[in-house]
Amino acid sequence: MTCPPSAADADAEATADAVATVDAVATVDAVATVDAVATVAVIGAGQAGLSVAHHLRRRGFRAVSGAGDRGGPAGRTVVVLDANQRPGGAWQHRWASLRMATVNGIHDLPGTPLPPVDPAEEARTAVPRYFADHEAREALPVLRPVRVRSVTPVDARPDGALRLDTDHGSWLVRAVVNATGTWDTPVVPDVPGAASFLGEQLHSRDFVDAEHFRGRRVAVVGGGISAVQLLGEISLVTSTVWYTRREPVFLPGGFVHEVDGVDVERRVAADVRAGRPPASIVSYTGLIWTGALRDAARRGVLERRPMFTRVRPHGVVEADGTDTSVDVLLWATGYRADLDHLAPMHLRGPLGGVPVAGTQVTDEPRVHLVGYGPSQSTVGANRAGRAAARDLDRWLAVHEGAPAHD
Ligand SMILES: Cc1cc2nc3c(=O)[nH]c(=O)nc-3n(C[C@H](O)[C@H](O)[C@H](O)COP(=O)(O)OP(=O)(O)OC[C@H]3O[C@@H](n4cnc5c(N)ncnc54)[C@H](O)[C@@H]3O)c2cc1C
Repeated sequence: MTCPPSAADADAEATADAVATVDAVATVDAVATVDAVATVAVIGAGQAGLSVAHHLRRRGFRAVSGAGDRGGPAGRTVVVLDANQRPGGAWQHRWASLRMATVNGIHDLPGTPLPPVDPAEEARTAVPRYFADHEAREALPVLRPVRVRSVTPVDARPDGALRLDTDHGSWLVRAVVNATGTWDTPVVPDVPGAASFLGEQLHSRDFVDAEHFRGRRVAVVGGGISAVQLLGEISLVTSTVWYTRREPVFLPGGFVHEVDGVDVERRVAADVRAGRPPASIVSYTGLIWTGALRDAARRGVLERRPMFTRVRPHGVVEADGTDTSVDVLLWATGYRADLDHLAPMHLRGPLGGVPVAGTQVTDEPRVHLVGYGPSQSTVGANRAGRAAARDLDRWLAVHEGAPAHD
């Protein structure tokens, strides 16, 4: 079933089943208005969410899709909720010029090898098609479009049930795996005067193609992969100027995934475990030279200027006081983790991040974050999905007195 559950699907029996199946001691009041129940809810069906769902099902969880599916005393269940209209996670929204040949590499979804693909095809069509095939092959019902608005404990007990309120009804679950990515939470720094700018301002997530900027002078802001890729493309059709807060670091020898990737994951994991908000991956890896970037460097496009201090109606004021005219401000300034719906769980620590060990939120075994911190890549998301499924299986086994499936 691929349509969202409706609040109208709720029936009186749901309350009793919710209490019996999800949490034998939750009060009836706490679940009186719930529409459906599952053991685990996976929020988000990008690479990370699909990986969790795959591994949970391998461990015997049955996928459910509405109020009629309530599992049973011996049946663990999983529901996958996704805010997008279609399969593909954030890939369906990538800009047109991002081709299969220019992505950094897409790891297979578990159980479904990526088929041969035309390198010239847009990633925003090829990857969603692959995700859709995977969902069909796995007969995985993903409820979409369903946006989770909030996740709330039903009572004060540390292992009590969690209530999910969505734009299509509510769910009662024992645990949540959050796999919501970052695409819906772009970051734009607060620069004085930005509101007075009379040209066009946009974030890189809204980039369509370089032609859109022809004849206009574009300031590209940011030191990450998106910034340099877009700079390379836009500078082929119009004049550009590049601003970054820090001097970008290009890796002289390129990035060796097997060796450097392990070290990067270890460093990101240490930050996340300590409760620091995860920084952009490029701040850990540095930038990797590609053919397009070497070409941009030869054309003199990668001459970076220190971040401007102020925006004026027709340009920016640079750090040394120079007034520079620009027609477009393109903020390639990254994203933050999309976790606002978890606010009622009070997961953030004093350093501003959510402390996470492995994929589990520290001291909160009911919540796992995948595609977060060290698992912010397609390969990392895959591994995190497997780990979250294993850890939840074990945690539930301890609470139910039943063996885990490993
Ligand atoms: C421009 C760009 C290029 C990239 N290229 C690569 C690359 O080549 N290789 C690589 O490994 N990584 C790449 N990455 C990183 C990549 O995004 C991740 O590796 C991975 O695809 C993210 O998967 P995800 O499942 O965590 O998130 P997403 O793909 O973003 O999926 C999250 C899903 O959660 C849903 N969602 C969000 N909020 C809610 C909610 N409240 N309720 C319900 N559903 C919700 C969204 O609708 C979405 O479908 C790139 C990132 C960017 C920005």
